[in-house]
Parts: sequence; C-alpha cells; structure tokens
Amino acid sequence: MPLATKYTIFGALPEEKLMKNLLIIGGVAAGATAAARARRLDNDVTITLLEAGADVSFANCGLPYYLGRDIAYRSSLILASEETFHDQYRVKVHTNTQALSIDRETKQVKARNTKTGEESLFPYDALILAQGGKPIVPPLPGVDKSHVFQLWTLDDMDRMDRYITEKEPKKAVVVGGGFIGLEMVEALSKRGIAVTLVEMAGQVMPNLEGEFAGMLTKELQDYGVKLKLGKSLQAVEDTCVRLNDGTAVDTDFVLLSVGVRPTLQLVKEANLELGSCGGLKVDEHLRTSDPSIYAAGDMIEIHQTVSGNMVRLPLAGPANRQGRIAAENALGGDHVYKGAMGSSIVKVFEVAAGSTGLSLKGAKDAGFDADAVVVHKASHTAYYPGSEKVSLMLIWDKATKKVLGAQVAGRVGVDKRIDVLATAIAGGLTIEDLAELDLAYAPPFNSPNGPVNMAAFTAINKQTGFSPSILAQEFEQFVLEQTPIAIDLRDPISYAKANLRGTNNLSQNVLRENLDRIPKEHTILLISDDGQKGHVALRMLKGAGFDKVYNLSGGYISLERHARAVGFEHLSVGLFPTERKTVNERKEDASEGLGTESACEADEHGPLILDVRTPMEFAMGAYPGAINVGLDSLAEWAQTIEDKNREILIYCASGARSSYGMRMLKQMGFTNVENGGGLHDMMARR
Ligand SMILES: Cc1cc2nc3c(=O)[nH]c(=O)nc-3n(C[C@H](O)[C@H](O)[C@H](O)COP(=O)(O)OP(=O)(O)OC[C@H]3O[C@@H](n4cnc5c(N)ncnc54)[C@H](O)[C@@H]3O)c2cc1C
Repeated sequence: MPLATKYTIFGALPEEKLMKNLLIIGGVAAGATAAARARRLDNDVTITLLEAGADVSFANCGLPYYLGRDIAYRSSLILASEETFHDQYRVKVHTNTQALSIDRETKQVKARNTKTGEESLFPYDALILAQGGKPIVPPLPGVDKSHVFQLWTLDDMDRMDRYITEKEPKKAVVVGGGFIGLEMVEALSKRGIAVTLVEMAGQVMPNLEGEFAGMLTKELQDYGVKLKLGKSLQAVEDTCVRLNDGTAVDTDFVLLSVGVRPTLQLVKEANLELGSCGGLKVDEHLRTSDPSIYAAGDMIEIHQTVSGNMVRLPLAGPANRQGRIAAENALGGDHVYKGAMGSSIVKVFEVAAGSTGLSLKGAKDAGFDADAVVVHKASHTAYYPGSEKVSLMLIWDKATKKVLGAQVAGRVGVDKRIDVLATAIAGGLTIEDLAELDLAYAPPFNSPNGPVNMAAFTAINKQTGFSPSILAQEFEQFVLEQTPIAIDLRDPISYAKANLRGTNNLSQNVLRENLDRIPKEHTILLISDDGQKGHVALRMLKGAGFDKVYNLSGGYISLERHARAVGFEHLSVGLFPTERKTVNERKEDASEGLGTESACEADEHGPLILDVRTPMEFAMGAYPGAINVGLDSLAEWAQTIEDKNREILIYCASGARSSYGMRMLKQMGFTNVENGGGLHDMMARR
C-alpha cells in the first residue's frame, strides 16, 4: 500500500512545477544553512525541515563556553527558531520531529512527532540529509549513571549545567582529550571543579604532532589538571571511575567525550551507499547514490584536499559550506564540492593550538616525500607589549616544494598563522612563495619577517642543504644511529634549569673559540633555545670546515615539549618546572612596571653589574648579583650614582642593548663602563 494513503501529507505537490518540495532532515549546522540558502536561491520552492531535537540552528560549538561562563547568556547560543525560519525564509520547521524512514520510490519521508506520537508523511522532490552524528557512548558498566554526561545539544548542556549548580561536584573526570574534551576541561575548571583528564592515546589532541600537544600538556599541568594519558576508562562507579591500569580516580562528575559516530540508520535502511570510512558516500555534487537525495555535514565522507583520500571531518566549517552547496545542487545547480583540508583550532586556558592540511606522518602515509621544520617566533615584535612566541611546524613536499600542512601553537596570533597557511595550501603555494609572502606588519601585529616567513626561510635552508636539521620527534633515532656530539648552545642558566643528559653546554662565542677541540670527523648536533642560534652556529661550523653538522629544529623548546607529551625511551630530557596558575588569578605578567630588581645582593666593592633586559627576561634567569635596570630607566637610575668612576659591567641578551646603554652612561660622564655583551658571554666569564 502506498504510504500516502495512511498518513497526513504535508505540502502536496502542485503538478506544473518540476521542483516543488525540498525536504531537509536535520536542522543545525548543515541543515539550517541548506534551508536558508535554498530560500535565497528560489523564492517559490516549498522548504520543509525536520528536526528531531527541540531546537534548530543553535551554536553547538559555543556550548562549552556557556558552561565555563565565558558566554554569559544561554540565549546567545540560539541562532534561529521555528518562527524566525518561517518569518525570514518561509521555511516550515518541524521540531521534535524524527524522520523514521525514507520511501525512495514514492519520495516520501515518514516522521513522528516525539511529543504527540503522531506520524506524518513528508513528500519531496529533493531531499537533503543533514543528520550529523552522535557522541559515542562506550558500552561500559556505569555509563548510564546520572552523573555521566555527553555534550552535543542544548539539552545536554542544560542537564550538565543544572547538575553543576545543584550538586556542586568537586571533582570531575573528562574522558577524551580531543577538542570538546579539552574545552570542557577548561569550562569545568572555571566552575571551580578539579579535573582529571583520561585519554587513551599517549598524548592529548592525538591529531597534533607530539611537541604541539606538549604545549597544551604544560598548560593543563600549570592549571593543575591531572592527566591520565595512555589510559582508558573501564567502568564508572558512584564515586570513582576505574581505568584499565587497575587504578581508580575519585570523581562525582564524568564527561564522556570520546568521538562522534555519524547518524546512518535511516540511510542504511534506505539502502543508500556508504563510503570506505564509515560515512555516507556522496559524489562531488554531494549527491548520494540516489539522485534525488543529497547530504551534507558530519554524516558524509569527503576528499581531504591535500592527500585526495576520503575522510570524515566532523567540523562546523565544512558542514556549513556543504549545506550551502547541497541546497544549490538540490535545486538543480552544478556546484562542485572540492573537499576540505581539515583546518582546526582549539583553545585550552590561554594556549591555542591548531593544524591545517596534513601532519608530517599523514603526508608520508599519503605518499609524499615530505619534510618539516619548526620555528618559535614572536607573534609580533618582541619589544611591543604582549608579544609571545608562536610555534609553527611547516610541512612540505620535497619534490614540488608545495606546502602540505602546518601546525601552530601559542598564546597570541595562532589563528591568523593557521589561516594564512590554510590559504597557502589551498592556493598551491611553495615554501619559496611563502618566503616572499607579503603579510601585514606593524609592531602590534607581526614582525617584518613574521613566523610564516621565518618558517619558510628555515624550510628553504633545509631543502637546499644550507642548514640541515632534525625534528624533535626524530631526535632519539638520530642520536642512537649517529651518536653525535650534542652541543647545547643555551646560556648556563637555561641549561641548568633543564637539559638533555650527556650534552655539552657551550655558548656560541665559546664555541667559536674552541673549534679546534671539536673533532671534525664526528657528527655534531646543535641545540639552542628555539633553533635560531643553532642555525647560526651551524653556519659557523660549516664555514670552518665541519661537514656533518645538524641543528635541532625548534631547539630545546621543541625537545622539551616532545619529551613532555610523548616521552623518549632512551634519552633523559629535563622538563621545565610547571607554574602554578589558577583560572581566577592568572600569572602576573612580569613585564608590567619597569622597577629596579636585583638577582641577589650586589657586591659593594666589585663592579656594578647592570642587566638592561626587560623584567620578564630578567626573571627567567640573570647573572648572579646583577641588578635589573631596564634601558628606559637607565638615565634616571644613573643620576642616583654619585661616583662616576665606579666600575660598571653592563649586559643584556645579545650585547646590543647593553652597547647602547654603555654609550648612554659614557655620555653622562661615567668613565669605567664595560659592555659585557649577552648573558651567554657574561656566564662564560665566570
Ligand atoms: C560541544 C561541541 C563543540 C564543537 N566545537 C566545534 C568547533 O569549535 N569547531 C568546529 O569546527 N566544530 C565544532 N563542533 C562540531 C560541529 O558542531 C559539527 O561538526 C557540526 O555541527 C555538524 O553539523 P551537522 O549539521 O552535520 O550536524 P549537527 O549539527 O549535529 O545537526 C544534526 C541534526 O540532525 C538532527 N537529526 C538527526 N537525525 C534525525 C532524524 N532522523 N530526524 C530529524 N532530525 C534528525 C539532530 O537532532 C541534529 O540536531 C562542535 C560540536 C560540539 C557538540
């Protein structure tokens, strides 16, 4: 019996038009976008949207930020309603209406109102499926307990919010260290809950290179989040969770955030073809195996544009754009969807980390002869307030020099570098194009050669053999195979704080003076703070006839982060101490104020040792007995010194600012001033 005889029919077709009824199942990112786009394209078509949940077009990406109270008003998350869709777009929205089956022959969808139980038939000429996915709930004992949550809808958020307000949990376990898990760690911490993060992989954000996950790891540790990495959940009990290593973690709140599964029951029952990655198969017009049915969003699989491989990318950007294109094509358009790169970004407390295109491993797995470098460069000129290091890995194809991917992490300016690099990849730019990319610069925004340009220079230096380097992730294998002489070029204070056991600490100038003591036939591996001084020293050694010299790309910063996130089997890499941060009182920025500070009691009879770096640099470590007088306060300070013949030794980071300071003091009549150079040079004097 044809279904139509048994059920109410909404919006029966007028005979004379080809395209009368556009039906959409799913009313959030892809579905809502498709409905709005369809109306803008066609004023006459009847558009009906079925949404199983109580809300359409809500901002699911904003849910963690409301729970953490970064977003103050729940209503800000509601982007549209049944009424606004009708008033603005003449789209008939049926919320609380679950599509139950698709009759492809008669082109009708059967749906049930979940409140009234009433079943109805919705005819279509073209159908767009935008059903998204659902969070995976692992089949483990106790996951159905009332203190166990997932976050996907406004209802989920409200349930969690109520529970936190009413029950005031003190401890939470978040299972899953991906995007939503990490955002929720921050949100729960902001609600005053002590959080333990359990992640089955050996690192947080498994899609990131180890050293980039390492920066997030340190931030989580600084904020007191307990990490259980490489561990999986076995059971939830009333007051704890049990892990696969036999341990238990006390908790009164559990969030499961272990991935998303596409919602495919309807399409399976309708015998639509599935793809190779477990998603719904669509062609380049986002058409399923049924020419009248299109699909968009988390439920489909698409081409990763760099590798060409099929992937599932459950992200809001692609879902929205696919919704637009599916609408256009469902109405008879010819818009080809090229796929997506998978650009993504996450913020954890004050650190952001993101990626675009392929990871190094992803690029190699896809068959590219790929290489990579890491730089840590100022987000904007270091002398302008607020500058922070941006860490950037650039991945390229050695055969074509085309950029294949990038990962970026830092506290400032991460998003813009990811976006520039995503655009570069989309445009097929090479590392040489990137090196010459003309990006906007003024001190508050960038450097004349910002992180993107610098990464490209570094990549070219590696590609051409001008400056061979290895990555932190390759470090252990390199050391085991080549048994190099490892020289740590950092200043002795930084070296003492954390180092790789077995390395020699020789600052750059000392290195120059000791070249004849280094065996030329041996492989030499240079480690500097961030890789930059290692490159300079490498060129010096090459110029002096050393052949087998390598620089550690990204320097000790990269090595430490990789060790923190992933660890080394045979190497002992010292970690930087964690800082104590809380969500309410962030760590004070030491650069505020230009007061005078002393590293320890100055010697009354010896020379006055002046450190003219910023208070922040000074706080990181200084020459014993030095007093910190910023260059800007130097003249004022000098006026307080009566004895113009007093011996003064002045230094900074590199010798440049101290040379300026020395001139200043001499002009003021001081007769016995010496420029001690950089901190490296000063420490070498000891
Ligand atoms: C907490 C959270 C944070 C996120 N943060 C980000 C982020 O920062 N950046 C990012 O890129 N992505 C983020 N995402 C992912 C992003 O929201 C999704 O990729 C996007 O919403 C997918 O859109 P979609 O339309 O395919 O599916 P959805 O938005 O999930 O919508 C699918 C809708 O279909 C409905 N539906 C399913 N089956 C039926 C049926 N049979 N009948 C009727 N209706 C049905 C569902 O009820 C659902 O409302 C986040 C997701 C969540 C949950």
